Amino acid sequence: MKYAIVIPDGCADEPQPSLQDRTPLQAARTPAMDAVAQAGVVGRANHVPEPLPAGSETANMSLLGYDPLKHFTGRAPIEAAAQGIHLAAEDWAVRCNLVTIQDQVMRDFTAGHVSTEEAAQLLRSLQEAVDLPQVEFRPGVSYRNLMLYRGSAEQPAPFSADTRTTAPHDLTDQEVVDHYPRGPGSDLLVRLMQQSVEVFRDHPVNQQRRAAGKPVATNVWLWGLGQTPQLEPFANRFGLQGAMITAVDLLRGLARLIGWQVIEVPGATGYLDTDYAAKGRYAVEALERFDVVCVHIEAPDEASHEGNVQAKVESLEQIDRHIVAPLYEALKAQGEFRILVTPDHPTPLRTKMHSRGWVPLAAAGTGIAPDQSTRYDEPTAEQAPLEFPEGWAMMDWFIAK
Ligand SMILES: [Zn+2]
Repeated sequence: MKYAIVIPDGCADEPQPSLQDRTPLQAARTPAMDAVAQAGVVGRANHVPEPLPAGSETANMSLLGYDPLKHFTGRAPIEAAAQGIHLAAEDWAVRCNLVTIQDQVMRDFTAGHVSTEEAAQLLRSLQEAVDLPQVEFRPGVSYRNLMLYRGSAEQPAPFSADTRTTAPHDLTDQEVVDHYPRGPGSDLLVRLMQQSVEVFRDHPVNQQRRAAGKPVATNVWLWGLGQTPQLEPFANRFGLQGAMITAVDLLRGLARLIGWQVIEVPGATGYLDTDYAAKGRYAVEALERFDVVCVHIEAPDEASHEGNVQAKVESLEQIDRHIVAPLYEALKAQGEFRILVTPDHPTPLRTKMHSRGWVPLAAAGTGIAPDQSTRYDEPTAEQAPLEFPEGWAMMDWFIAK
């Protein structure tokens, strides 16, 4: 049996005044998703249990079948896995944004989308200034970098599960003073953040950016720290080989951590201009080599972050036409199969932020008896009896054993 999973990130939403009080899923023309709903079932799942942060990192862990209350350790170790960085048992990974803070206000959590080369230069200088052999700055892409803390049994890292940090994108235009790290090891994190201010202030990279009228990288902002989550390989649990298609590091990392292959698609951007058709083609091809093929599309989430209703509707139509439709056709043509369409979490256009709560799902295929549903959208899911309040149980249901 072949399985396909399509994740339109953050697509679940509320009725929109500008869409005649319909949700984006209701307003979008999505004949393929509706065909899945008609042939199979619609239901809903909640992938973000309290008190975890509502985000792709927790929600997709749950969607893939792993209880985030048990397994989620932080965002940074998942990104480290995406970059192929090995963390030993005593190591910690910390997200290290380059940010612009002025007058104690978070002006820009991307430091004006600082370039990858500029970020590498700034972090190299910071590494030289920091007199701690355990601390390693690892440049990533643009403002998204990592800091590693190499602990050992004799000298364990000072952090714990009680160390609290705040994501810089949740602080946009807010005072940062009450949002510095707290709890075990936070003094070290705060000290490194303060040290970066000194190192970056007159750094050649910032002098050039200032001269060019670009936002300067004033600080590193350290957050999302954790140790590598211990996830039982998907193949051990379900006896199936999986592959992930995504443009987002968190999803790459989660896939690697459960033993899936990551398929890179040229033109997949993680943004509204992504090449939907290329993702669809690669997914159909991957069905020949893998038992489970999962396609994650970031665009609906990005549209919500921008508060762009039309872009969200359009992204759903593109996903339907270029990814769900060809996958569904290919699956039907090859024999026994199941297909699942569901986002990870809602990202309401109203708040422009990820939220916890129900997301609709539609699934069809071998052994799934159809219910009365005719459409894939939030109101249909609310009326359907199929419910996964603990969203990580959904995968056990979807994979027919
Ligand atoms: Zn997400």
